[in-house]
Amino acid sequence: MSKQKKSKVFYISHETKEKLRDIWKKSMEIQEEIAGTFSLSEEENNNGFLELILNETQCKGRKEDSYTVCGFDPTMDSEYTYHTHCVEVDENGWPQNYPNLISNEDMIGIVQDSHLNDGYLSNDNGKNIFDVLCCPVGIFIYYSKPAIIEHWKKCEDVINEKNYLKYMKWFNPKYKKPTDVSITEEIENVKKLIHTNKTKKNQFWATEENALMNSEFNKYIGSWYYDQKEIGIFPNEIKKKFSCLGYSKWFKKIPEDEVSETFSAADRANATWEDQYRWFTSNEFLKSRYHEEIKVYIKSMNIYGFGVEFFHWRELVTFRID
Ligand SMILES: [Zn+2]
Repeated sequence: MSKQKKSKVFYISHETKEKLRDIWKKSMEIQEEIAGTFSLSEEENNNGFLELILNETQCKGRKEDSYTVCGFDPTMDSEYTYHTHCVEVDENGWPQNYPNLISNEDMIGIVQDSHLNDGYLSNDNGKNIFDVLCCPVGIFIYYSKPAIIEHWKKCEDVINEKNYLKYMKWFNPKYKKPTDVSITEEIENVKKLIHTNKTKKNQFWATEENALMNSEFNKYIGSWYYDQKEIGIFPNEIKKKFSCLGYSKWFKKIPEDEVSETFSAADRANATWEDQYRWFTSNEFLKSRYHEEIKVYIKSMNIYGFGVEFFHWRELVTFRID
């Protein structure tokens, strides 16, 4: 487990932000998530800020039935990452996702991959400090705070003297405890095996997701499976309150006669891809300021144990991580 010694102040230059915006626009056009990593400037600038430098390599998400997963290669595990949310539409052109929200899978991933997470179901290569989400309304920087990591660990299956052998036998059905090894060591060995074994023998390992499954935590957040059943904080708290995040204001003239100020936020969120694209790439949108609802959303996320910073596309991006 690694801990950051002192807080750092990061910044994203205007040029890098323009590039991120172009990547977001491209992702809108190709209807796929795009993800990548940053490296850090070696020197602090005059203000003591560290600059985030965009790395060349990118990867595209892969489409599942009704959602897109950003399938990072484990070698892409990195301290500073970004990914995009486009407005995803079905074959009839109707939106299917909540592009302005940090998704349920993002919330799970940021905890699983966190450099602070030493739970046995955490990502063995995980060293993530924060992820940058580029979405229609702007840039979210989000990360795990210790409280949510603790919750993750509480959700992991309890492995103890009564049941460790059951887990050990997944890997070796004929396993017998050696006499010279203590039970405490045995329990640690089982956890180590679960943490590192990426084969079908490991029943926590999901090849599809390329990750270990913490079912209780998935249920708590409301991963895709639980979301469908309306279980977890994502469907019950976040989606209910914030599904129209970023849609409260609307470009008055888009499209000329159809969408007007009289439309509700929900109508705007369900507007076609073309209308949304025009609105979110319009100068009028870029001129509009910080939305009050985003502040409320961030506060809620903080309560759940996630650190979140938000920047409108035209704002200067500087933020501090403790
Ligand atoms: Zn996402």
